[in-house]
Amino acid sequence: MLLAGTILSAGLVGYLWRDTFESDSLKGARVLVTGASTGIGEQMAYHYARFGAQVVITARRGAVLKQVAEKCLKLGAEKALYIAADMAEPTDPDRVIKFAAKSLGGLDYLVLNHIGPSPFQMWNGDVDHARWLMQVNYLSYIEMTNSAMPFLKQSNGSIVVVSSIAGMIPTPFTAPYSATKFALSGFFGILRQELSMKQESISITVCILGLIDTDSALSQVRGIVEAKAYPASEAALAIIKGGATRQREVYYPGFWQPVCLIRDWFPGMRDRVIQSTYNYKAVTQT
Ligand code: NDP
Repeated sequence: MLLAGTILSAGLVGYLWRDTFESDSLKGARVLVTGASTGIGEQMAYHYARFGAQVVITARRGAVLKQVAEKCLKLGAEKALYIAADMAEPTDPDRVIKFAAKSLGGLDYLVLNHIGPSPFQMWNGDVDHARWLMQVNYLSYIEMTNSAMPFLKQSNGSIVVVSSIAGMIPTPFTAPYSATKFALSGFFGILRQELSMKQESISITVCILGLIDTDSALSQVRGIVEAKAYPASEAALAIIKGGATRQREVYYPGFWQPVCLIRDWFPGMRDRVIQSTYNYKAVTQT
């Protein structure tokens, strides 16, 4: 009964939220999308372009970004600029924000989406990798948020953080990655409250995604996890709508919302169900 009620209310929230999105609200909006050379970030850049936004995109590979920016202009972006940057570098997060704010004359949306590559495997004790990934996937997000804050205050703007179901429920083979996503939920959940206490009208939308059919994700899970992968273009649109309607959270696909609501009811059973979806056989020493 309680479970049915939970699922019904999650569905109702999703329905109401879809109805309030107005694509015109993004016309001319000043948007920075990180990790936009491939995958979900690239798809977000194209959607913002179709809505007539002004976009700055960033990632490490300038040559690929150039092609994405050119396509954005063809799709209808009012402006499409790019800046190559490595979020492992201490000064790059701030450099990117300054470039975006200067070239767009301010900032309405800061869309934090990039991730550094991380192997899909059992924890192997590589603390250096975990530290590096924390810089790329988490610390650079908060550095960019700091630098963007004056511009977002001016515009009553929005921060959109792309996270994962692995940042809500512990999922094997992702320890360093999952830790960065859990960190994002904690940090941005608290920042949202503190902005509200200070009566600042900057919205924070944290997006919790299940498996999405990007090349990088599929190449990692293939043969190990049997799960349906959902389309990157749809995931990108769900993120953009959630940001534009200033939602606290976006779940894509939507069934993850009720799953997260009940995730701690039977933790032992939950862990066993998750483990059963992995194609893994323990090698026992004799
Ligand atoms: P991709 O691997 O396709 O894209 C990652 C992006 O980040 C690329 O543009 C890459 O470009 C950029 N990037 C990588 N390293 C750095 C770096 N050091 N500095 C700056 N940019 C960097 O990822 P997805 O599209 O699959 O994922 C996008 C978001 O969605 C992530 O936050 C991810 O956690 C989340 N997500 C994805 C899921 C999925 O199944 N795909 C599931 C759940 C969440 P370049 O190499 O040019 O730097």
